Amino acid sequence: MAYAKLSGALLVRKDAPVAETVSVPRVGPVPTVRHGDGLLARHLKSLKLPTFLAQYERLAQQYAAEGLDPSGYLLRLAELELLERERQLIERRIKQAKFPAVKSLDTFDFAAVPSLDKNLALELARCEYVACQENVIAIGNFGTGKTHIAIGLGLAACQKGLSVGFITATSLMHELIEARDEQHLLRLQRRLAGYKVLIIDDLAYVPLSTAGAELLFDVVSQRYERGSTIITSDLPLEEWINVFGTAQLTGALLDRLTHHVHMLDMQGASYRLRESKRPQPRSQSNGKRDE
Ligand code: ADP
Ligand code: MG
Repeated sequence: MAYAKLSGALLVRKDAPVAETVSVPRVGPVPTVRHGDGLLARHLKSLKLPTFLAQYERLAQQYAAEGLDPSGYLLRLAELELLERERQLIERRIKQAKFPAVKSLDTFDFAAVPSLDKNLALELARCEYVACQENVIAIGNFGTGKTHIAIGLGLAACQKGLSVGFITATSLMHELIEARDEQHLLRLQRRLAGYKVLIIDDLAYVPLSTAGAELLFDVVSQRYERGSTIITSDLPLEEWINVFGTAQLTGALLDRLTHHVHMLDMQGASYRLRESKRPQPRSQSNGKRDE
């Protein structure tokens, strides 16, 4: 019969359940096994390892009888497993978000946009607004960093393991109309409604068709109090009627969006334009800019 060797004196038949382990007779009292004040049990539950959870104490006692303390080793293993899973989840979230470029708030020059409430932006990066299904609207001129801030907030949400989707308003319209024409609108709507954070970037002054405006309204409506929506636009809210066409639809959309909203006011000159006008140090004057 095949046996696997677990430690010096503990043998387990390869095809046997853990309960059938063959243990050596105990010598003296079994020492108390320390295992991180219940932390190990919590990690094993998070890891969905019920057999580990059920058996580890008994096994640990067997190991302890041999003078070893495997529970510390197991605790470390469980911690490493959890950390690795968390890292993989964040990586997956960032990939799934489909950001056009990965930008963080760390590289954002807040001094360049005095109208932007820096404390609010940093507070939003903690993602508490997501748990409350609150929205964010960033409004300001072209090039003031609205997309950068939106991506930065999206990245912060990914780092908390939250599902994020990034799409420009124009692509969203196209995808919605295409999905409707190809009879898979429901599937797309379900996906859009499922993100914890959906970033709709660059809602610009392009009047939408009636159907387009209604489809976009449906997205916002289906996400209402289910997830957070971040919208960036160079149009002040009063002018959104020019995009959505009717006062009724615009009113209903703004009603849902602004019920719980954080406004980011981003006025000023284009950052890129300003930077390009600044005298550059010699070593950087080859025209290449770091995006
Ligand atoms: P907007 O969406 O408002 O038109 P973007 O976010 O696309 O502006 O910004 C244009 C470029 O300038 C991007 O490369 C962005 O990273 C950069 N940028 C804009 N504002 C800032 C800022 N305050 N700090 C650092 N980079 C900025
Ligand atoms: Mg933009």
